[in-house]
Amino acid sequence: MSPSRPSSPPPAAQALPDPAPLPPGGLPPGGLPPGLLGGPDGPAASRGSPGRAKPPRHLADLALPERRAAVTELGERPFRADQLSRQYFTRLAADPGEMTDLPRSSRQELADALLPRLLTAERELACDGGTTRKTLWRTFDGAYVESVLMRYPGRVTMCVSSQAGCGMACPFCATGQAGLTRNLSTAEIVEQVVAGARTLARGQVPGGLGRVSNVVFMGMGEPLANYRSVVQAVRRLTEPAPAGLGLSARGITVSTVGLVPAIGRLAAEGLPVTLAVSLHAPDDEARDELVPVNRRWKVAEVLDAAWRYADVTGRRVSIEYALIRDVNDQAWRADLLGTLLAGRLAHVNLIPLNPTPGSRWTASRAGTQEEFVARLTSHGVPVTVRDTRGREIDGACGQLAASADPGGRPPEPPATPRAVLTRGTTPGPPATPRSR
Ligand code: SAH
Repeated sequence: MSPSRPSSPPPAAQALPDPAPLPPGGLPPGGLPPGLLGGPDGPAASRGSPGRAKPPRHLADLALPERRAAVTELGERPFRADQLSRQYFTRLAADPGEMTDLPRSSRQELADALLPRLLTAERELACDGGTTRKTLWRTFDGAYVESVLMRYPGRVTMCVSSQAGCGMACPFCATGQAGLTRNLSTAEIVEQVVAGARTLARGQVPGGLGRVSNVVFMGMGEPLANYRSVVQAVRRLTEPAPAGLGLSARGITVSTVGLVPAIGRLAAEGLPVTLAVSLHAPDDEARDELVPVNRRWKVAEVLDAAWRYADVTGRRVSIEYALIRDVNDQAWRADLLGTLLAGRLAHVNLIPLNPTPGSRWTASRAGTQEEFVARLTSHGVPVTVRDTRGREIDGACGQLAASADPGGRPPEPPATPRAVLTRGTTPGPPATPRSR
């Protein structure tokens, strides 16, 4: 991922079934990559290697009444759940010893039951004078995920992962090359944001004490293939304390390859989050290759779903477009895109391609990019060119997996980090190879 400028607003909803799996009849020759839709929501059941066991239960997985029930089962009064929740979401406490409003005798037991350690920071890298920080996390079962904190004047954006790996197989994206390991739990997603909030609240990010204002689901994974956990995470992030972190939903952006049924379902949730659609091509020929799920849901269907989302929520949809030299940056494609988007509640976020190691593709020439912008603008379509913060720490778009989990080996540092802030204590390789 890399920074985007979220914004957003809207209304309400309830859980529907997960998107239907790809019908065999709709598949291209050879079919879509296995695990394309990430399987059923929630971590896969089984044991032994990443993806095979369920992450431990954490209070962020539970609604407040469920937390109260859980502490009651431990023989505690229900309000202890509220206290514990405030410790986590408001005080951002990480250590039971800090939770001085809880009786000393029950702190550890409550924390063990509802605040298990889900993510261990393996490595933290910073650039931009410490205001862009990428954290490589190891999960309880040895998978790797990454989050990126980006501080700008007046706002802090956390880019979070929703899955370990990704099953969408977009050929220009590092995460897409590695395949899907597993879905993250709600709490594993929330914890990435809470960890960022903690570093800001402790003054560890240059610029003084701060708060997270924006969250973008543009790290590893396809958020709408992990629908239930992602939507629950959005609820936890937006509910006021003690239920959650109390962020504004307008500052949250969910980015998708275009899983059409799930976009419809998200529109009905009543969560005023911004939808970002990774279009990357205005025509099916190019998009079939760049975003393989397009072989299931075509450009026209994806855009229809986006316009319905805009209608229902009143939110402007962000169309993500990675400009790739001589692949999708032709003037005629700019004009076609302009025609498709003209008059719609949408803006285009152009992302100069960040080539992944060994990629046969590269970013467009400066003049081509300017021409692309000019043509979109001539159709009256608002365009921004995304900044490329974090590139030198592999924190930019599509790079998150490059150093994170190369086939289960411990991560290598990127070639030219400006600063290595911390290094985890010698991580052995995950106990078992990743599953796909
Ligand atoms: N699965 C989600 C989130 C992915 S990351 C989605 O596809 O939307 C967020 C954005 O970064 C997506 O638009 C993705 O296509 C883009 N991206 C991935 N790799 C990239 C790269 N190497 N260069 C530029 N953008 C990239």
